[in-house]
Amino acid sequence: MLRVGDLEIYLLNDATCLLDGGGPFGLVPLTLWSRYIPPQQLNLVSSHYICLLVKTGNQIVLIDTGYGEHFPIKAMERLHMQRPQGDILVGLARLGIQPTAIDWVINTHLHADHAGGNMRQDSNNKWVPSFPNAQYVTQQREYEDAMHPNERTRATYDPNNYHPLVQSGQMRLIEGDTELLSGIHCVVTRGHTPAHMSILFESKGESALFACDMASYAVHFQKLGWMTAFDVEPLQTLESKRLWQEWAIRTQSPVLFPHDPLNAVARFSMEADGSVGLHPIPVPYV
Ligand SMILES: [Zn+2]
Repeated sequence: MLRVGDLEIYLLNDATCLLDGGGPFGLVPLTLWSRYIPPQQLNLVSSHYICLLVKTGNQIVLIDTGYGEHFPIKAMERLHMQRPQGDILVGLARLGIQPTAIDWVINTHLHADHAGGNMRQDSNNKWVPSFPNAQYVTQQREYEDAMHPNERTRATYDPNNYHPLVQSGQMRLIEGDTELLSGIHCVVTRGHTPAHMSILFESKGESALFACDMASYAVHFQKLGWMTAFDVEPLQTLESKRLWQEWAIRTQSPVLFPHDPLNAVARFSMEADGSVGLHPIPVPYV
Protein backbone atom coordinates (compact mmCIF):
# COMPACT_ATOMS: atom_id res chain seq x y z
CA MET A 1 0.00 0.00 0.00
CA LEU A 2 1.19 3.51 -0.80
CA ARG A 3 0.18 6.22 1.65
CA VAL A 4 -0.27 9.83 0.50
CA GLY A 5 -1.29 11.88 3.55
CA ASP A 6 -4.70 10.53 4.54
CA LEU A 7 -5.12 8.52 1.32
CA GLU A 8 -4.36 4.79 1.23
CA ILE A 9 -3.62 3.55 -2.30
CA TYR A 10 -3.70 -0.21 -2.95
CA LEU A 11 -2.43 -1.82 -6.17
CA LEU A 12 -4.59 -4.61 -7.65
CA ASN A 13 -3.26 -6.51 -10.66
CA ASP A 14 -6.15 -7.68 -12.82
CA ALA A 15 -4.11 -9.87 -15.17
CA THR A 16 -0.69 -10.74 -16.53
CA CYS A 17 -0.31 -10.86 -20.32
CA LEU A 18 2.42 -11.24 -22.92
CA LEU A 19 2.40 -8.69 -25.74
CA ASP A 20 4.50 -8.32 -28.85
CA GLY A 21 7.18 -5.80 -27.83
CA GLY A 22 6.13 -3.61 -30.75
CA GLY A 23 2.97 -2.74 -28.78
CA PRO A 24 4.45 -1.29 -25.58
CA PHE A 25 7.64 0.00 -27.24
CA GLY A 26 6.51 1.15 -30.68
CA LEU A 27 9.43 2.63 -32.57
CA VAL A 28 12.02 1.80 -29.89
CA PRO A 29 14.30 -0.99 -31.19
CA LEU A 30 14.42 -4.32 -29.39
CA THR A 31 18.12 -3.82 -28.68
CA LEU A 32 17.22 -0.77 -26.54
CA TRP A 33 14.02 -1.83 -24.80
CA SER A 34 15.36 -5.29 -24.00
CA ARG A 35 17.85 -3.60 -21.63
CA TYR A 36 14.88 -2.39 -19.58
CA ILE A 37 12.73 -5.51 -19.71
CA PRO A 38 14.05 -8.79 -21.09
CA PRO A 39 11.77 -10.26 -23.78
CA GLN A 40 10.50 -13.81 -23.68
CA GLN A 41 10.24 -16.11 -26.70
CA LEU A 42 9.14 -14.39 -29.94
CA ASN A 43 9.98 -10.97 -28.42
CA LEU A 44 6.96 -11.14 -26.17
CA VAL A 45 7.01 -8.75 -23.24
CA SER A 46 5.20 -9.06 -19.92
CA SER A 47 2.43 -6.59 -19.17
CA HIS A 48 0.41 -6.18 -15.98
CA TYR A 49 -3.03 -4.53 -15.67
CA ILE A 50 -2.93 -2.53 -12.47
CA CYS A 51 -6.03 -0.91 -11.00
CA LEU A 52 -6.01 1.20 -7.83
CA LEU A 53 -8.24 1.01 -4.78
CA VAL A 54 -8.14 4.25 -2.80
CA LYS A 55 -9.47 4.69 0.73
CA THR A 56 -9.98 8.34 1.65
CA GLY A 57 -11.22 7.73 5.19
CA ASN A 58 -14.91 7.86 4.34
CA GLN A 59 -15.05 6.98 0.61
CA ILE A 60 -13.81 3.95 -1.35
CA VAL A 61 -12.65 4.74 -4.87
CA LEU A 62 -11.73 2.23 -7.57
CA ILE A 63 -9.59 3.55 -10.42
CA ASP A 64 -9.97 1.44 -13.57
CA THR A 65 -11.56 -2.01 -13.60
CA GLY A 66 -9.25 -4.20 -15.71
CA TYR A 67 -10.40 -6.59 -18.42
CA GLY A 68 -13.35 -7.94 -16.42
CA GLU A 69 -14.95 -11.32 -16.91
CA HIS A 70 -16.45 -11.05 -20.39
CA PHE A 71 -13.30 -10.46 -22.43
CA PRO A 72 -13.42 -12.80 -25.48
CA ILE A 73 -11.60 -16.10 -24.89
CA LYS A 74 -9.84 -15.86 -28.26
CA ALA A 75 -8.41 -12.47 -27.33
CA MET A 76 -7.36 -13.81 -23.92
CA GLU A 77 -5.45 -16.60 -25.66
CA ARG A 78 -3.84 -14.14 -28.04
CA LEU A 79 -2.61 -12.11 -25.04
CA HIS A 80 -1.51 -15.24 -23.13
CA MET A 81 -3.64 -13.84 -20.30
CA GLN A 82 -3.20 -15.34 -16.86
CA ARG A 83 -4.71 -14.42 -13.54
CA PRO A 84 -2.57 -16.18 -10.95
CA GLN A 85 -3.99 -14.01 -8.15
CA GLY A 86 -7.51 -13.77 -9.61
CA ASP A 87 -9.04 -10.62 -11.12
CA ILE A 88 -9.67 -7.36 -9.24
CA LEU A 89 -12.89 -8.67 -7.64
CA VAL A 90 -10.78 -11.39 -6.01
CA GLY A 91 -8.23 -8.72 -5.03
CA LEU A 92 -10.97 -6.58 -3.48
CA ALA A 93 -12.18 -9.62 -1.52
CA ARG A 94 -8.64 -10.04 -0.15
CA LEU A 95 -9.00 -6.48 1.18
CA GLY A 96 -12.38 -7.40 2.66
CA ILE A 97 -14.18 -5.06 0.24
CA GLN A 98 -17.45 -6.14 -1.39
CA PRO A 99 -18.36 -4.68 -4.82
CA THR A 100 -21.37 -3.01 -3.16
CA ALA A 101 -19.01 -1.00 -0.93
CA ILE A 102 -17.34 0.89 -3.79
CA ASP A 103 -18.50 4.55 -3.81
CA TRP A 104 -16.71 5.75 -6.97
CA VAL A 105 -15.31 4.10 -10.10
CA ILE A 106 -13.03 6.32 -12.17
CA ASN A 107 -12.20 5.17 -15.70
CA THR A 108 -9.01 6.93 -16.79
CA HIS A 109 -10.16 6.07 -20.32
CA LEU A 110 -12.52 3.50 -21.82
CA HIS A 111 -10.13 0.99 -23.43
CA ALA A 112 -11.16 -2.61 -22.74
CA ASP A 113 -8.23 -3.22 -20.37
CA HIS A 114 -9.27 -0.28 -18.16
CA ALA A 115 -13.10 -0.40 -18.30
CA GLY A 116 -13.77 -4.11 -19.00
CA GLY A 117 -14.72 -4.80 -15.39
CA ASN A 118 -17.30 -1.98 -15.21
CA MET A 119 -20.17 -4.31 -16.07
CA ARG A 120 -20.81 -8.02 -15.67
CA GLN A 121 -23.46 -10.44 -16.90
CA ASP A 122 -25.74 -11.83 -14.21
CA SER A 123 -27.17 -15.38 -14.15
CA ASN A 124 -29.80 -14.36 -16.77
CA ASN A 125 -27.06 -12.99 -19.07
CA LYS A 126 -28.33 -9.49 -18.32
CA TRP A 127 -25.67 -6.76 -18.18
CA VAL A 128 -25.49 -5.20 -14.72
CA PRO A 129 -23.01 -2.81 -13.09
CA SER A 130 -20.23 -4.68 -11.27
CA PHE A 131 -20.30 -1.97 -8.60
CA PRO A 132 -24.02 -1.27 -8.16
CA ASN A 133 -23.72 1.56 -5.61
CA ALA A 134 -20.86 3.41 -7.29
CA GLN A 135 -20.89 6.64 -9.22
CA TYR A 136 -18.83 5.92 -12.34
CA VAL A 137 -16.81 8.78 -13.87
CA THR A 138 -14.99 9.38 -17.12
CA GLN A 139 -14.39 12.29 -19.51
CA GLN A 140 -17.24 13.37 -21.83
CA ARG A 141 -14.80 13.50 -24.77
CA GLU A 142 -13.54 9.98 -24.04
CA TYR A 143 -17.11 8.69 -24.07
CA GLU A 144 -17.80 10.40 -27.40
CA ASP A 145 -14.62 8.94 -28.92
CA ALA A 146 -15.52 5.50 -27.55
CA MET A 147 -19.01 5.71 -29.06
CA HIS A 148 -17.62 6.76 -32.46
CA PRO A 149 -14.46 4.70 -32.91
CA ASN A 150 -12.55 4.48 -36.17
CA GLU A 151 -10.83 1.57 -37.89
CA ARG A 152 -7.75 1.98 -35.68
CA THR A 153 -9.50 2.39 -32.31
CA ARG A 154 -12.55 0.13 -32.70
CA ALA A 155 -11.01 -3.11 -31.40
CA THR A 156 -10.40 -1.74 -27.91
CA TYR A 157 -13.80 -0.13 -27.27
CA ASP A 158 -16.78 -2.24 -26.17
CA PRO A 159 -19.91 -0.11 -25.62
CA ASN A 160 -21.25 -2.74 -23.18
CA ASN A 161 -18.60 -1.45 -20.75
CA TYR A 162 -19.98 2.10 -20.54
CA HIS A 163 -23.01 2.87 -22.71
CA PRO A 164 -25.59 1.33 -20.31
CA LEU A 165 -24.01 3.23 -17.40
CA VAL A 166 -24.34 6.55 -19.21
CA GLN A 167 -27.91 5.77 -20.26
CA SER A 168 -28.93 4.93 -16.71
CA GLY A 169 -27.22 8.04 -15.31
CA GLN A 170 -24.78 5.97 -13.24
CA MET A 171 -21.78 7.24 -15.22
CA ARG A 172 -21.01 10.93 -14.85
CA LEU A 173 -19.23 12.56 -17.77
CA ILE A 174 -16.84 15.29 -16.66
CA GLU A 175 -15.22 17.92 -18.86
CA GLY A 176 -11.58 18.79 -18.27
CA ASP A 177 -9.59 18.73 -15.05
CA THR A 178 -11.84 17.99 -12.08
CA GLU A 179 -11.22 17.55 -8.35
CA LEU A 180 -13.65 14.72 -7.85
CA LEU A 181 -13.14 14.28 -4.11
CA SER A 182 -10.94 16.18 -1.73
CA GLY A 183 -7.37 15.37 -2.85
CA ILE A 184 -8.35 13.22 -5.84
CA HIS A 185 -7.93 15.18 -9.07
CA CYS A 186 -8.78 13.82 -12.51
CA VAL A 187 -6.33 15.55 -14.87
CA VAL A 188 -6.51 15.28 -18.64
CA THR A 189 -3.18 14.00 -20.03
CA ARG A 190 -3.82 14.03 -23.73
CA GLY A 191 -2.09 11.59 -26.08
CA HIS A 192 -2.90 7.94 -25.43
CA THR A 193 -6.42 9.09 -26.24
CA PRO A 194 -7.47 12.75 -26.70
CA ALA A 195 -9.23 12.82 -23.29
CA HIS A 196 -7.11 10.29 -21.39
CA MET A 197 -6.91 11.08 -17.66
CA SER A 198 -4.20 10.64 -15.09
CA ILE A 199 -5.08 10.86 -11.40
CA LEU A 200 -3.31 13.28 -9.07
CA PHE A 201 -3.47 12.53 -5.35
CA GLU A 202 -2.81 15.29 -2.82
CA SER A 203 -3.21 15.08 0.94
CA LYS A 204 -1.50 16.76 3.89
CA GLY A 205 1.31 18.19 1.77
CA GLU A 206 2.08 14.87 0.05
CA SER A 207 1.27 13.94 -3.53
CA ALA A 208 1.45 11.11 -6.07
CA LEU A 209 0.37 10.64 -9.68
CA PHE A 210 -1.24 7.64 -11.36
CA ALA A 211 0.13 8.28 -14.85
CA CYS A 212 -2.01 5.54 -16.34
CA ASP A 213 -1.32 5.21 -20.08
CA MET A 214 0.38 8.61 -20.36
CA ALA A 215 3.30 6.27 -19.48
CA SER A 216 2.40 2.58 -19.47
CA TYR A 217 5.78 1.52 -18.05
CA ALA A 218 8.08 3.59 -15.82
CA VAL A 219 10.69 3.76 -18.59
CA HIS A 220 8.18 5.59 -20.80
CA PHE A 221 8.08 8.34 -18.16
CA GLN A 222 11.86 8.38 -17.72
CA LYS A 223 12.54 8.63 -21.47
CA LEU A 224 10.16 11.16 -23.03
CA GLY A 225 10.78 9.86 -26.55
CA TRP A 226 9.70 6.31 -25.72
CA MET A 227 6.00 5.64 -26.15
CA THR A 228 3.70 2.81 -27.00
CA ALA A 229 2.28 2.05 -30.41
CA PHE A 230 -1.20 2.28 -28.86
CA ASP A 231 -1.15 6.08 -28.48
CA VAL A 232 -3.60 7.85 -30.78
CA GLU A 233 -1.72 11.15 -30.55
CA PRO A 234 1.94 10.32 -29.76
CA LEU A 235 3.21 13.90 -29.99
CA GLN A 236 0.55 14.97 -27.47
CA THR A 237 1.71 12.13 -25.19
CA LEU A 238 5.20 13.61 -25.43
CA GLU A 239 4.02 17.05 -24.27
CA SER A 240 1.88 15.60 -21.46
CA LYS A 241 4.86 13.61 -20.24
CA ARG A 242 7.18 16.62 -20.46
CA LEU A 243 4.87 18.59 -18.16
CA TRP A 244 4.37 15.84 -15.59
CA GLN A 245 7.95 14.57 -15.63
CA GLU A 246 9.05 18.08 -14.64
CA TRP A 247 6.45 18.02 -11.84
CA ALA A 248 7.55 14.58 -10.64
CA ILE A 249 11.22 15.60 -10.49
CA ARG A 250 10.43 18.91 -8.77
CA THR A 251 8.07 17.44 -6.14
CA GLN A 252 9.86 14.08 -5.74
CA SER A 253 6.40 12.49 -5.75
CA PRO A 254 5.84 8.81 -6.50
CA VAL A 255 4.40 8.05 -9.94
CA LEU A 256 2.36 4.90 -10.58
CA PHE A 257 2.26 3.01 -13.89
CA PRO A 258 -0.53 0.68 -15.04
CA HIS A 259 1.31 -1.97 -17.05
CA ASP A 260 4.88 -2.18 -15.74
CA PRO A 261 5.62 -5.63 -14.24
CA LEU A 262 8.97 -4.42 -12.85
CA ASN A 263 8.44 -0.87 -11.57
CA ALA A 264 4.79 -0.10 -10.90
CA VAL A 265 5.80 2.82 -8.66
CA ALA A 266 8.89 5.02 -8.97
CA ARG A 267 10.44 8.40 -8.21
CA PHE A 268 12.46 10.41 -10.71
CA SER A 269 15.46 12.70 -10.40
CA MET A 270 17.50 14.98 -12.65
CA GLU A 271 21.05 13.62 -12.81
CA ALA A 272 24.20 15.71 -13.15
CA ASP A 273 24.63 14.60 -16.78
CA GLY A 274 21.13 15.83 -17.69
CA SER A 275 19.58 12.36 -17.82
CA VAL A 276 16.55 11.44 -15.72
CA GLY A 277 17.07 8.87 -12.97
CA LEU A 278 14.42 6.23 -12.19
CA HIS A 279 14.20 5.07 -8.57
CA PRO A 280 11.80 2.17 -8.01
CA ILE A 281 9.55 2.16 -4.94
CA PRO A 282 8.55 -1.43 -4.12
CA VAL A 283 4.80 -1.61 -3.40
CA PRO A 284 3.42 -5.16 -3.29
CA TYR A 285 0.09 -5.92 -4.95
CA VAL A 286 -2.90 -6.69 -2.79
ZN1 LIG B 1 -3.69 0.46 -20.75
